[in-house]
Order: sequence, then C-alpha cells, then structure tokens
Amino acid sequence: MSEEIEHLKCLIIGSGPAGYTAAIYAARADMKPVVYTGMEAGGQLTTTTEVDNYPGYPKGVSGPVMMEDLKEQAERFDTDVRWGVITSVDFTGPIHKVVVDEKTTITADTVIIATGASAKWLGLESEQKHRLNGSGVSACAVCDGMFYKGQDVAIVGAGDTAAEEASYLAKLCTKVYMIVRRDEMRASKAMQHRVENTPNIEMIYNSETKEVLGDKTVEGVLIVDKDGKERKLDVTGFFVAIGHKPNTDIFKDWLTMDDTGYIQAVPGTSKTNIPGVFATGDAQDRVYRQAVTSAGSGCMGALDAERYLAEKGKH
Ligand code: NDP
Repeated sequence: MSEEIEHLKCLIIGSGPAGYTAAIYAARADMKPVVYTGMEAGGQLTTTTEVDNYPGYPKGVSGPVMMEDLKEQAERFDTDVRWGVITSVDFTGPIHKVVVDEKTTITADTVIIATGASAKWLGLESEQKHRLNGSGVSACAVCDGMFYKGQDVAIVGAGDTAAEEASYLAKLCTKVYMIVRRDEMRASKAMQHRVENTPNIEMIYNSETKEVLGDKTVEGVLIVDKDGKERKLDVTGFFVAIGHKPNTDIFKDWLTMDDTGYIQAVPGTSKTNIPGVFATGDAQDRVYRQAVTSAGSGCMGALDAERYLAEKGKH
C-alpha cells in the first residue's frame, strides 16, 4: 500500500522577510501555511549584523534577531515552520507537487516562492573570513555603509549595482576606491559618468583583488593590476558588488524567468505563468532587493494566493 501524500492549501518556500510575511498573512487568513525554511533558515539577513533601515525598529536590530521576530510572529498564528529544502517541483497540473529533501513528496493548491537571492562573492579566503565574522566585508552598501562613515572603503564590481553603491558610499565615506577588473565598466553610461565624476571616488581599472588584509578587522585590500603590479589600499571596509544569483534553479523548467534567473511575475502582482504559483521577494526582484520591499511582496503573494483559492472555491 502506498504512503498517503500530505496535501497543503498553501506552501511557502523560503524563510526570509518575504516568506515569513507571506506566512503571517496566509496564517491569519486561515490558509494553514507551511513554510519550508531552506538551507539558510532566515535568509540573507541572518548573515548581516545591524539592520537600521527596517521600519519599526527605531534603535536598529540585528539581522538574526529580526528574522527570529518574524518567525515568532508567523508562528503566533500557527504557521507550521519546518526545516527542509525543496529539491524539485512539478507544476504540471492544478495540484502542485514538490519534493522535500529529495525524498518526501507533498502537494499544494498554492505555492508561494520566497527563495531569495544570494550575493556573489570573489571566493577569497580572507574575504569570506571577514564576511562571516561581520568584520568589514559586505555585499550591501545600503545596509552597512553607515558603519564606515568618515572612513576609506573599497568596492569591487563594475555593473549598475556597484556604481550605485559606490555613489551611496561616496556620500558617507571620505574616499571610495572602485576596483574594476577590465578597462571599462558594464554599468549604464549615466552611472559610469556619475561615478567617474564624483571627486572622492577613485577608479582603478584593470585590477583584481588579491587579498583582504587584517586579522580581526579589515586593515586594507591588496590589489594587482594586469601587469602583475601590486598595490595596497588603506581601507577599513570592503564591499563586493559583482552581482546576485536568484535561488530559482529548481523552477527553471516551469516558470518564466529573465536571463539571470529572476522569476518574471505579472507586473503589479506576484502571479507567475503557472496559476496558483506566486513569486515574491528577491527571487523576482533584481532592482530593489531590500528586506522591506521583500516583506511587502510576501504580503502580495499571500493575498494573491488567497484570492486564487477563493476563485477556485477552495477557501
Ligand atoms: P552585473 O552582472 O550587471 O555586473 C556585475 C559586475 O561585476 C560586472 O561589471 C562584472 O565584471 C563584475 N564582476 C563579476 N565577477 C567579478 C569578479 N570575480 N571580480 C571582479 N569583478 C567581477 O550585476 P549588477 O548587480 O550590477 O546588475 C544586475 C542587473 O540589475 C543589471 O541588469 C543591472 O543593469 C540591473 N540593475 C539596475 C539598476 C537600476 O536600474 N537602477 C540598479 C542595479 C542593478 P565584467 O563587466 O568584467 O563582467
């Protein structure tokens, strides 16, 4: 006799601000949501230190504490939060199938995707040491720039994100070194023009980062140019802005995405090309990528899912 498959009204994949906000709304609407946390429970914010730009925390809050708060709020309304990774999906029919941890199949009427995105890193050991310790390496200038007010920092990357973040940092910091690996930037001409004409941004072309220096805190960055000549930049902060990768690989056979893998939702909604499947948070947002915008889109996911169930007479 085959084992009975668990069926859910609302499955939420991912446990960042989008996932938990979707859960709060879905639970309060009596959709009995189940959240699968994914590998990094709490999402990207669990690897940040202080969050000062999320409304409602006048004194700031640490990323991990904020995610615990969101989880607690979702559980207050009986959200079932489970550790586990969704390893594959099958969106063929109206009942959506997902496999948890490569072994357990469950089905759901609605699926809210909140799997987020991951910042890309250079992959240097010294970079990862300081990133994990929260001691001077960051992939988010808007989140962490304030810590370097009045100091010198470096940023690596040459796309629109790097250019925007360099401009942001230039308003706070004394000096910003922008390390570009080729002899030109990828960013739009307008953004290139802006960074090149900001007096306290120094462009360093044809150079790569060899090492982030310092033991307990960042004390500099060692770069090397295409002729092999090394130079030490005296900075206390190092920002990496070389792109993000949305965590959407398992959906690529089903959902419409752009060439980087961001899910393309119907503008102004969280609806995807598959009825009953909704995309929220950074998995569908290549531009804003903030905790608060993510939370807002999680709310949209839950409201869209609720309406979908009501239209189908299932809620
Ligand atoms: P992009 O992929 O556009 O740019 C990444 C940059 O990082 C490239 O310049 C790349 O260099 C560089 N890079 C990649 N790997 C390394 C490495 N190992 N060492 C050094 N440099 C590296 O990512 P973005 O996040 O900047 O932008 C993503 C998308 O979002 C783009 O389409 C962008 O236009 C859009 N965007 C739009 C905004 C807006 O409209 N306001 C704001 C932010 C982003 P190389 O050029 O040599 O490949």
